[in-house]
Amino acid sequence: MSASASDPLLKVCDLKVHFPLRRSNPLALAKSVHAVDGVSFAMARGRTFGIVGESGSGKTTTALTIMRLIAPTSGTIEFEGVDLATQTGAALQRARRRFQMVFQDPLSSLNPRLRAGAIVREPLDLMQIGEVATRGAWVDELFRRVGLRPEQRDLFPHQFSGGQRQRIGIARALASRPDLIVCDEPVSALDVAVRAQILNLFISLQKDFGFAYLFISHDLGVMRHMCDDIAVMYLGRIMESADRASLFSRPLHPYTRALLSAAPGRDRAGRVKLVGDPPNPIDLPPGCRFAGRCRFAEARCNAEEPQLRVIEAGHLVACHLVSDAGHAPQE
Ligand code: SF4
Repeated sequence: MSASASDPLLKVCDLKVHFPLRRSNPLALAKSVHAVDGVSFAMARGRTFGIVGESGSGKTTTALTIMRLIAPTSGTIEFEGVDLATQTGAALQRARRRFQMVFQDPLSSLNPRLRAGAIVREPLDLMQIGEVATRGAWVDELFRRVGLRPEQRDLFPHQFSGGQRQRIGIARALASRPDLIVCDEPVSALDVAVRAQILNLFISLQKDFGFAYLFISHDLGVMRHMCDDIAVMYLGRIMESADRASLFSRPLHPYTRALLSAAPGRDRAGRVKLVGDPPNPIDLPPGCRFAGRCRFAEARCNAEEPQLRVIEAGHLVACHLVSDAGHAPQE
C-alpha cells in the first residue's frame, strides 16, 4: 500500500469482483469472469490516487465497486474505518454523501430532461443536505466554482458543449461536499483542447475543497499530471504501485516498463513491444498473468503467481524477478 496512507481515507483489501457466466449445460462447471481479482490499496485524504491500465484491466470495475454500483464478490472497502462492502439501505445512503463520482461521458451521465441547475441540486434534495432555503445559493456558487455562470442553470444538457457538460457533472459531484471523488476516465470523451482545462479545474478544486480523488485512466500523461500515487492494473490485479516520482523514474515491473516505453513522446528506439494477447479472464493461468507477454518469463513465472511485495517504502511490485534491492529484470 502507498506510504502516504498511514491514516487512510479509503482502504481496499483483497477486493474481488467475479461475474458468473450463464451455464448452457446445468452439469457444466460454473465459470466466472475474474474482473477484479484480489486488489488492495490505501489512499490518504486530500491526495490523488490513480489506477492506470489498459481496457479490460478491471480499473473501472474497481471504481464502480468502491462506489457500490457493483456488488463485490469478496473483500473489504473501508471508508474511514467503515466497511462499505457490508453497508446497505439508509447506512449506505448516509455514507454516499461522502463519496461521489464523475463519469467518463458527461452526456449520458446527465439526465437530458432536467435543467442544469436541477441536476446539480438533485443530490442536495435527495440526501436532505443543508437548509432548503440555502440550496439554490449553493448551486449558484458551485456553477461559479466550476467555471459556469449561474444564469446557465436553466439550460438543458444538450445546450452545453462537452467540456461544459463535464463541468456540470463536477458541480453535481461537489454538491454534497464529499471527502472522496471517484473520476472514471473523466476527460477521455473530451476534445484534446478542453482536456487540460478540465484537469486543471480538478486540481484547483482539490486545493480549494481539500477532498481526495481516486482517478481512473488509461492515459499515463493524465496520470502524471494528476496523481500523487499510482497503481498499475493488469487483468484484475495490481502489478505495481508507487508514488508518481518513483513510478515514472524507476518503474520495476516489466508491464509498467512496457506501458511507459509506449507512451507518446517516448523515443521509439527504446520502445518495448508487448507481444501476444492477455489470457482469458475466465480461464486464468496458474502463475503470473502477464507471463504470456513477458520477455523475461521463466518456469517459476508459469507455476506461481507473484504477490505484491514492498521493495521500498511506498513502492510495491508483483514480479518474481524484481530483486529485493529493487533491480528490474534485465535481458
Ligand atoms: Fe514477467 Fe515473471 Fe515478472 Fe511475471 S513474474 S512479470 S512473467 S518476470
